[in-house]
Amino acid sequence: MKVLMSGNEAIARGAYEHGVRFAAGYPGTPSTEIMETFARYEGVYAEWSPNEKVALEAAIGAAVGGEKAMAVMKHVGVNVAADPLFTVSYTGTNRALVIISADDPSMHSSQNEQDNRNYAKFAKVPMLEPSDSREAKAYIKVALDLSEEFDTPVFLRTTTRVAHSKSIVELEEPIPWEDKTGVKINAAKYVMVPGNARVRRQALETRTAALKQFAEKTPLNRVEMGSREVGIITSGMPYNYAKDAFPDYSYLKLGMPYPLPEKLIRNFASKVKKLYVVEELDPFLEEQIKAMGIDVTGKSIFPFANEFDPGIVSSAISGCAEIGAIPAAPDVPPRPPNLCPGCPHRGVFYVLGKLGAFVSGDIGCYTLSFMKPLEGLHSTVCMGASIGMAHGMSKALGDGGKGRVVAVIGDSTFVHSGMTPLLNMAYNGSDAVVVICDNSTTAMTGMQEHPATGYTLQGRPAKKLDFAALAGVFGIENVETVDPFDLKQVRKVMKKELAGTGPSVVIAESPCVLFRRANPVIGKPLMVDPEKCNGCKLCLGLSCPPISWRPFSEMSEGTYEKKTKNQEGIAFIESVYCTGCTLCQQLCKAGAIVEEE
Ligand code: SF4
Ligand code: SF4
Repeated sequence: MKVLMSGNEAIARGAYEHGVRFAAGYPGTPSTEIMETFARYEGVYAEWSPNEKVALEAAIGAAVGGEKAMAVMKHVGVNVAADPLFTVSYTGTNRALVIISADDPSMHSSQNEQDNRNYAKFAKVPMLEPSDSREAKAYIKVALDLSEEFDTPVFLRTTTRVAHSKSIVELEEPIPWEDKTGVKINAAKYVMVPGNARVRRQALETRTAALKQFAEKTPLNRVEMGSREVGIITSGMPYNYAKDAFPDYSYLKLGMPYPLPEKLIRNFASKVKKLYVVEELDPFLEEQIKAMGIDVTGKSIFPFANEFDPGIVSSAISGCAEIGAIPAAPDVPPRPPNLCPGCPHRGVFYVLGKLGAFVSGDIGCYTLSFMKPLEGLHSTVCMGASIGMAHGMSKALGDGGKGRVVAVIGDSTFVHSGMTPLLNMAYNGSDAVVVICDNSTTAMTGMQEHPATGYTLQGRPAKKLDFAALAGVFGIENVETVDPFDLKQVRKVMKKELAGTGPSVVIAESPCVLFRRANPVIGKPLMVDPEKCNGCKLCLGLSCPPISWRPFSEMSEGTYEKKTKNQEGIAFIESVYCTGCTLCQQLCKAGAIVEEE
């Protein structure tokens, strides 16, 4: 049967059809739907691990124990998993182990734009790179076979465009599951003390040489001869862009960007007059091909950053923007992203923005609070960095830092990478305050479970982490829980904790407004009473989407009455968006924000 599937759904389906029964991952755009799809198949085990390092370690354990396994993460997740990655490359895996790296050119939902093809070369792990959903399903099967044949982890790299675009795939019957599980003791292979690791280092070189031979003959690396005037070497999504722009040129499509098929590349290069490499992000293929002594044009005409499209490819190669050019985007007013109406983080960041402290932020929806008018967050580096950075800053500032450093982290991110830096704060005695914004879910990636939600990925009840108890066990004496919708309470507790000495933890606890299961705060919508509004604009400081401003200059005379000489307009609440969270009501000194009748 043929069906339309996204690249992510196709990877999950391919893994299932090919006998994978264990998968672990951490949610992150653009990879999230792989785990969510896989978890729904019959007879599989799928888990959200607290972070990507744990996910990879669990998948390694499953593969060594004889199960076909998959570890799923977005590109920055591979940084977190890099420690076990580099060593599992040495030990090998026993049964199949595939690591999905979903990269994000153009940073649609990421803090950087790294090109994880570099990890393949760096860790000496073979990598496959599909260009669409059909290939995504086919390639994961090849990756699993390759892993077992060569006793190596294998990377499958996608990019956002492959992960989320849909194309037709053919569903196949899953192969019968083969029980090869069992405990096999082999310390020389799996205990990487220097004496054993040196032996495995040699095995790694032998394996890479064999993989190079595989790369020469695999149909994953495909020559499509067309006009010999121009040859294009490419991989992944850029293959589609180049084919769209120049369907008649000759192509070497590399479904396996590491290790490269040197002979195949030389042969292809010798058949065309002019050779280009079309690749997004780093000159990964270009540098290796140039190192072979082959004359090729790449980043001297193509951008180093962002996604490509057929227009970019055609104008770079032909110098002619008309061929395949993408029409310019219509000129629409910019609309900055914002926290949702009724978001429980809004009040916390409103207070933090007024405290005059440095707020060390983290990865999550609340990162959006860095913008005006909230300006409640001053740094975002990576998962867990909020607490580590706040500790460093508190130490660097010494006594001058007392009361001036706050770290803010979400519940899911805290579980991912916040525990060790918090322990460090307790152990090394910081004066910073850590605010855990606990909204009971991993909101930014679409409401995934984690160890503090009380449920597993497959919907089973689970042990629920207690943040206050954990902080206490770490040795943090000052722990407070606040209602983030109570501005007075949040302000009071923050001031108290900032004035004290030693590390403290404030847990701002209220479920994400979009998370139905956890009963978020949804009240009656509020409205602005135009008779009472004096135009002070205090409520606008929350930047809540339903609140807007109506200047008198745009209203017909007689429809308003100025309360003060300088009043320029009145606030307005669009009730269909308002959740009645009352934050704006708490700020309005004129009592102008009231419940709708
Ligand atoms: S009550 Fe005010 S702050 Fe809350 S959602 Fe409605 S408009 Fe926004
Ligand atoms: S805070 Fe109250 S008085 Fe001030 S602009 Fe908003 S609604 Fe009007």
